[in-house]
Amino acid sequence: VAKREGGARIRVFRREMGERLLARQRDKADLRVAVDEGQLVLHYQPIVDLATSAVTGFEALVRWQRPGHGLLGPGAFIDLAEETGLIVPLGNRVLVGACEQAVRWHTQGRMLGVTVNVSTRQLSSASFLTSLDRALATTGLPPARLTLEVTESVWADESAMKALMEVRGTGVRVALDDFGTGYSSLSYLQRYPFDVVKIDKSFTWALGDTARTAGVVRCIIDLAEVLGAHTVAEGIETPAQAAWLRDAGCAFAQGYLFGRPDLPDKWPA
Ligand code: C2E
Ligand code: MG
Ligand code: MG
Ligand code: MG
Repeated sequence: VAKREGGARIRVFRREMGERLLARQRDKADLRVAVDEGQLVLHYQPIVDLATSAVTGFEALVRWQRPGHGLLGPGAFIDLAEETGLIVPLGNRVLVGACEQAVRWHTQGRMLGVTVNVSTRQLSSASFLTSLDRALATTGLPPARLTLEVTESVWADESAMKALMEVRGTGVRVALDDFGTGYSSLSYLQRYPFDVVKIDKSFTWALGDTARTAGVVRCIIDLAEVLGAHTVAEGIETPAQAAWLRDAGCAFAQGYLFGRPDLPDKWPA
């Protein structure tokens, strides 16, 4: 009896493995189609100056309008894109789309910056710098209006770091995203220049918890200043969080308090 049950269990297990593998193949094929056929949609979230509440720019955040599945957030497909290498064409679509949108704002007289998330895997691909140059050249966006967001995982990837240094040489700005949650070491931070530190939303949300958290956030803001970078706090949901961060010297912020990511027509002048 035990043997027979064991055999049945193995069959169920095999079937589940097979189904999972098939689903993954399907997702991968669908994602490729999505990149090729324009199912990717960019939403934009305002970045505000905490002193004046003025919008200074927008972060582009990708979504996938997947037939039969609705509008998917990046959490549902970025990992797969990275594993399959599709992040390279996907990231390039995002880059070009965001540069085009920024130029559209400029022609309306709104001199806003645009911020684009770039995966470490994308950054270390051989074509990255060429794609970046081409995106800037074809859209005409001044490099200083573009900021690339990278996560602290870049420190662990030598070719990504090399590309990043060349990026800064072109005048495009670099932001460290989700700061404080990853692999930063003080030795990397003082060795490699970058322009913006984005304070992760987990810190913003924990601000009221303990004096310890508040102290750590104050240190991040001071550290950024010492390194010549400015700070953007993420995930601001309450006026109290905004006030605290402004008083602590944080210059910029993003969060549902100021606006959720949405289509560009949601953000008229
Ligand atoms: P991120 O770069 O840290 O982006 C901020 C995320 O926090 C966004 O989620 C945004 O919608 C969300 N957010 C902003 N303000 C608030 C707030 O006040 N409260 C809460 N609860 N959430 C807030 P989203 O759009 O789901 O993106 C998740 C992550 O996916 C991004 O984190 C980024 O790492 C990645 N991602 C998005 N677009 C791209 C892309 O084009 N390429 C790559 N490689 N990654 C992307
Ligand atoms: Mg980001
Ligand atoms: Mg990010
Ligand atoms: Mg972040």
